[in-house]
Amino acid sequence: MTNQNVVAADVKSRIGMAIAVAMSNSCMLSRQAVPELAALGGFLSMSQKKLLKRIENGGGRGSGAKVSAWIDSMRSSSPTRVKSTASIPETHEKDSWILHHPSALNQFEKITQESKGKQIVMFLDYDGTLSPIVADPDRAFMTKKMRAAVKDVARHYPTAIVSGRSRSKVYKFVRLAELYYAGSHGMDIKGPTKILNYNEVGNQGVLFQAANEFLPVIDEVYKVLLKKTKSVPGAKVENNKFCLSVHFRCVDEKCWAALAEQVRLVLNEYPKLRLTQGRKVLEIRPTIKWDKGKALEYLLESLGYANSSDVFPIYIGDDRTDEDAFKVLKNSGQGIGILVSKVQKETSASYTLQDPSEVEQFLRRLVEWKGL
Ligand SMILES: [Mg+2]
Repeated sequence: MTNQNVVAADVKSRIGMAIAVAMSNSCMLSRQAVPELAALGGFLSMSQKKLLKRIENGGGRGSGAKVSAWIDSMRSSSPTRVKSTASIPETHEKDSWILHHPSALNQFEKITQESKGKQIVMFLDYDGTLSPIVADPDRAFMTKKMRAAVKDVARHYPTAIVSGRSRSKVYKFVRLAELYYAGSHGMDIKGPTKILNYNEVGNQGVLFQAANEFLPVIDEVYKVLLKKTKSVPGAKVENNKFCLSVHFRCVDEKCWAALAEQVRLVLNEYPKLRLTQGRKVLEIRPTIKWDKGKALEYLLESLGYANSSDVFPIYIGDDRTDEDAFKVLKNSGQGIGILVSKVQKETSASYTLQDPSEVEQFLRRLVEWKGL
């Protein structure tokens, strides 16, 4: 056998090994296999080259770090981490965090005292706040008791649901016509279709849609993501009309990096879209300056409370995207933000509640207090 033949045989075997590593990975083509394929670039068939090209596109400097950062960010706020962190013994740091973000139930009298003489306006996130985080995002139902509590709250205070979901989807979960709905992280806002007694202002149809021109591109990226992520078991892409969610809830943690890498590669082709991280979710949305905080300001304005000192907004949410609303309240010095969390997190919220059942208790107490 000539040296050339030996080299060719060796190359063939290395290609085989690299592809085998790739194929044996239960997530999808692994990064482990890619350098091996790259090193063999000159010997690859046309289709293999195309595959490599596609994987390498956008694989510039720092891409691995970017994916790691997204995953770390998701992990830090994921429910699986809650269990492990919650079991950590009480520390000075934890005590200090609780001191700065006390329970809204324990501080209920203080909160109501602060709101005296002002109009309370309620803002409620949906997932993880009114409903538990469940494996299948399509089955994130709220309990009947929670729905009754929200309905009662809305009888006394203007109430809005502010969610990353599409407005129509979150309405299907909540099914209360008397509420305001801000879907797609506040990019799609609609007023109540059922008028209650409090001071309603403005028309009750669609109030605001911030990103209409992005609808075609969001739809296109949705289709691309469906295709690119279908090889990752458990991956789910949700079209929220003005934004997209890639859910990691049912994906084995070993496959998170592979799935995040696919999302990054797709996103590289669409510079007018940006990515944010949440609880076991990566979210893709337009680069416009609009978020849950802007939605809160817009709704207050729609209700006639722009620059008013007679309003006391209460925003309850559990995720990073809710921090934009907490910041608006903190900076304006009006109302309060309540973070739903069992563990300490960096937050601009003033108070905490542990989980949706505590949110329900808090809503009940607000109703009882109003009735006194
Ligand atoms: Mg949430």
